[in-house]
Parts: sequence; structure tokens; C-alpha cells
Amino acid sequence: MQEGNLFETTQTYALDYLRHVFDRNVFPTAEALEGLAQFEESLPAEPTDAGEVVDLLHQYGSPATVAQVGGRYFGFVNGSVVPASLAARNLSAFWDQNSAMEILSPISARLETIVERWLQELFGLPDKTASGFVSGTSLATFCGLAAARYRLLKKQGWDINEKGLFEAPGLRVVTSRQAHSTVIKAIGLLGFGKANVEWVDVDKQGRIRPEDIPALDDRTIVILQAGNVNSGSFDDFNTVCEKARAAGAWVHIDGAFGLWARAVESLKHLTMGMEKADSWSVDGHKTLNTPYDSGIVLCADREALVAALHMSGSYIVLGEERDGMFYTPEMSRRARIIELWATLRYLGKKGIDEMVGRMHERAVQFAGELSRINGFQVLNDVVFNQVMVRCKTDDLTEKVMKGIQEMRVCWVGGSVWEDRKVIRISICSWATTEKDVIASVRSFETALQLARNKIPINP
Ligand SMILES: *Cc1c(COP(=O)(O)O)cnc(C)c1O
Repeated sequence: MQEGNLFETTQTYALDYLRHVFDRNVFPTAEALEGLAQFEESLPAEPTDAGEVVDLLHQYGSPATVAQVGGRYFGFVNGSVVPASLAARNLSAFWDQNSAMEILSPISARLETIVERWLQELFGLPDKTASGFVSGTSLATFCGLAAARYRLLKKQGWDINEKGLFEAPGLRVVTSRQAHSTVIKAIGLLGFGKANVEWVDVDKQGRIRPEDIPALDDRTIVILQAGNVNSGSFDDFNTVCEKARAAGAWVHIDGAFGLWARAVESLKHLTMGMEKADSWSVDGHKTLNTPYDSGIVLCADREALVAALHMSGSYIVLGEERDGMFYTPEMSRRARIIELWATLRYLGKKGIDEMVGRMHERAVQFAGELSRINGFQVLNDVVFNQVMVRCKTDDLTEKVMKGIQEMRVCWVGGSVWEDRKVIRISICSWATTEKDVIASVRSFETALQLARNKIPINP
């Protein structure tokens, strides 16, 4: 490996990026996007100088990135990275650990064990709740539902690992009409069938209506959500979990970004009763601001999780400590636990409370300032970090959103709420300041004026 200059130069490029990313255009400029043409070539026949490869990325890749590390990216629900987590990622990139087994990476195994305990305590979950460290909530939900499938079938005297799904006793899946698309994907992957789902209506904020939930039994999986991707609302866990417990049903909570509300003193009321569920999925890379590719499945039934994900038939954990692969579908995995640990270690309980609490405050500020502008209507109760806003007509909403995107002061995406187009704002970065919100609101206002006067942003 050529070292020395290569890594020093790369570090210079990285720091240069970091210095500018908070002030620059949030979405790549047209020129930067054109620069991507540089990558259009055949696979080289001969090796290239390593420095040249990194130069290409720096020169044409960096400008074509979306500045989600900064404070004015409000699209989807995309987190930034806190400095300690980015630095830890940087260091651990050089370690290149495989976290499949303790024997492959003692540091990863140790940190997984420690973070498992920290999360159980932070979220107030039952003793011995197991954690699997996966790529995101999509996979975490898949794992939680696989554990549910294993346990409920086992109770019916059916071992899914041995006998498979085709002749198995039927299971039921109950979830809300606002379940996230990745929940529906997991339902499909696990063989439950989308058409078999018993969909439950939601209220004005997108929360499942507990009174509309059908009679539950010990063959039913109920999927709830902490943080509706549009409104940020939370289902009524206490009521539904009580009902499910009495019936022997399994409850999984999709808490991709919302589960962290539990760690905030002023917001934890939103999650009341969540500890009565059986499994949970949550992201590191959204609200917690770890680098990308960090999700966690939590499961109160450790044996069900391990049995569902480990197909060898023998579910004994081999290491003195922990072999991470028993808690995830994959064997080899990069050691994402290092950044997750670093983030939690750096913030501590108080830091998490303050950071997530600030995201909520900025969302309230954003909604407040927008609702003072004639022409914008805020549609949701801003209970967490999500704000939905629309203009008078769908056409105008769409034009204003495009205008905001073209100005590149901030970035917001669209969604649909009660059959109308909306602009969705997600405050998910530790770096978002009051000034960032003010500058962004100003670009909303400008885009609205221009759209009303039919003036294009880039004539
Ligand atoms: C983002 C999100 C997911 C999917 O999580 P990934 O980390 O992107 O896999 C699932 N549910 C909700 C509510 C989300 O916001």
C-alpha cells in the first residue's frame, strides 16, 4: 500500500470539505452535476495511481454531494453527523474491522455488548433486551418481524427454520394505513403477503386508531410507529400494547427516528408504554446523527431474535463475549458499532436530550415562522421534528418546492397528506441553528413570491 502522502492528501481534502460544507449550496449546482460525466469511462485496463483516484473523487465527487452534514438539509428524514462520530469513523476506517465474531474483532464485540446495555437503559426497555447492529431501520424492522414470526410459530408448535413457511399455521399482521414503506417491504420479504395485512385507519395526525384495531390473538403481529414520517406523530403504545399483551400478540415498533424521543425529558411522554412492546427498530443515522449505515433492532425476546437470524440450529453464542453475527442476518459486517458507541459516549444522556430537544425546538420555530407568512399553511401538530406545509393549490405547492430546491439555500422534499401535495421539513441535524431556519424560511417566502408572479428562479 502506498501510504504517507496519499492519506495526508486525502485528509486535507476531507477537512477542506468540512470547512465549506456548512456554508455552501445544499444541493449540487448544475455545473457540479455536469462534472459527474468525468466518471463515465470504461473500467481501466491498467492500474491507476492511488492519488489520482482520490483526486478524481475530490475534484468531481465532492461538489456533487448533497450537504446533509450541514444545517439546512431538511429532506426525507436524513441526519447529519456529530463531530465525534465522524472522527471515530475516520479512525476506524483504518482499522477495517469485521464485527461478525469476537475472535475477529474483540473491540467491536466489546462495544456491541456495552452499547446494548446503554440502549436498554436509555430507552427503558426490559432487562436483557438484545440488540443487533444493522444497516438501518429497514433491516432492523425485518429482523424484529423475523423474531416475531419465529416466536409466534414456535408457540404453535412450528419451527420455521426447520419446516419453512409454506405449510405453516397462518399468522396475522395488523398495522396502520400510515405504516412506512419499509415496513411493507419487510412484510413482503418475510412472506406474510401485503394483501393479508389488516390495515387500521389513522386519525388526523396519522396515529393508529386504537378503537379500530381488530380483536387480537396469539397469532398476530401488530406493527406500530414512533414518528410518522410525515407528521412526526406517535401511536398510542400504552393502549395498544396492553391490548396485545392480554391477547398474546407480538408488538413491533418502527421508531426509525422517533424512538429517540424517549431520551428527551420534555418529549418522552410521546413514547409512553413503548417498553411494553416486544421488539423495536431505530436508526443511528437519523436523529442520533451517526454516520450513515447504522440501524439497530432491539428485541426483548433474545432467544427469538437469535433463533430467527441464526440458521445453524445451534443457538449457543460461541464467544465469551458476543458474536455479533448471531444478532444480524449477515456474517461479515463493518464495525458500525464504533461510531455508534462514539456518538453515545460523546453526547451522554444530557447531550442526547439537548440535541434532540433542539431539533424539536427548531421544528417548532420553522412551523411558527412559516405560519406567519400569508400563503403557507402548516398541517400538523409539531410534536417532534417534522413539519408539513402547503400552499393554496397543489400546483403552487409543487412550484414553490421546486423553487426552494433550485435556490439551494436549503433542501426540502415533497409528500402527500390527505390526498394533497405537501412540502415536508425534517429537522434532523445537530447543526441546524436558528439562523439556518430564518435563512431557509426566507427562501420559502422568495419561492412563493416568484411562483405567484410566475418568475422562474433560473431564467
Ligand atoms: C427512514 C425510516 C425507515 C427506514 O429506515 P432506513 O434507515 O432508511 O432503512 C423506516 N421507518 C421510518 C418511520 C423512517 O422514517
